[in-house]
Amino acid sequence: MKTSFAISGGTVGSPNEGAPHVYVRVVTDVGVEGWGEARPSHRWSCETLETVTSTIAGYLKPALLGAEVSDLQTIHGLMNKEIKPDLSGGQPIAKAAVDMALHDAIGRERGCRLPELWFAGFRPELKLSYLISTASPEEAGRMASDAAAKGYRGLDVKLGLRPDADLDLLEAVKAAAPNLFLRADANQAYNLQQAAKLARAMERIGVDVFEQPLRADDLHGHAQLRRKTDIPIALDESIWTTGNLMQAIRAEACDTVVVKVTKMGGLTGARRCGELAREAGLGLLGGGLTESRLALAASAHLFRYLRIEDPVDLNGPLFLADDPVASGPRIDEGDVVLPDRPGIGCEISAEKLELYGCRSNV
Ligand SMILES: [Mg+2]
Repeated sequence: MKTSFAISGGTVGSPNEGAPHVYVRVVTDVGVEGWGEARPSHRWSCETLETVTSTIAGYLKPALLGAEVSDLQTIHGLMNKEIKPDLSGGQPIAKAAVDMALHDAIGRERGCRLPELWFAGFRPELKLSYLISTASPEEAGRMASDAAAKGYRGLDVKLGLRPDADLDLLEAVKAAAPNLFLRADANQAYNLQQAAKLARAMERIGVDVFEQPLRADDLHGHAQLRRKTDIPIALDESIWTTGNLMQAIRAEACDTVVVKVTKMGGLTGARRCGELAREAGLGLLGGGLTESRLALAASAHLFRYLRIEDPVDLNGPLFLADDPVASGPRIDEGDVVLPDRPGIGCEISAEKLELYGCRSNV
């Protein structure tokens, strides 16, 4: 990490402690490989570096060895038989890394770029949002004007780091960058009364979307909040699976759904959630968990496929000093150009994996 990243639940990565990224390599019987990535954070969800690696090495790998790589239906059945889905899919971040690696391998084996596996065209360009994670309104304002000067089109502001400063934070950001799309993410920091009060202030300030204000399991509260404000409510931590999404639709708990490949158990689950949300008339926002350029590229391909509007919150490049991707997306501040190669399109450097302390023999 080149800079620290905090959300309302705590620090999710820092230059001193780094941040966990797990890389999975699958090899098919004809020697084609595929790579996937998991980025757990125990401040954001219940999976950790240890649970992801032990689940993959001790449970998913033995269950999948010998399975037909391109039969993802069967593979997800085998993974879910081994690690039973709970309300959040049953260790979706671990399963996502495997699902991503298999998509990469299938694409490489067939000579298809990722979206072509979904009978969709390759769309290489996308724009990233700029993420502001600070409790200081002055610093937030400086970051917002800096982002605007660099050509970013949208800001994602993390709330709840110091709840009493949130309004000042949003006002400073809006004053510094009045024309940028403004997404305010509370990461479950509030109760209904606090969220309703803040939402009314957001209407005055001109916030575009209020993300995950209440606890993940409080769909009823989010539905009540929607009746108290005109600010669109987005759900992120509440929606991991199509089952969660259907409950949210029935409860009328949100206007918008945050699609993330890793929380939704991989490209398979995230694509299904994105399509279902679209069919239900909900808006879509694209997000990530500060993954490296491997999962960034996989997510970007899916967001193009789902026609998610830019800018998307794939903020890894803002926070990571380096990654083990030897060749992958070209990133210049908020502008990304995806690699024109089969699969996800990234090559992984064994030297870099070794350098950053990862081991391939688990
Ligand atoms: Mg979020």
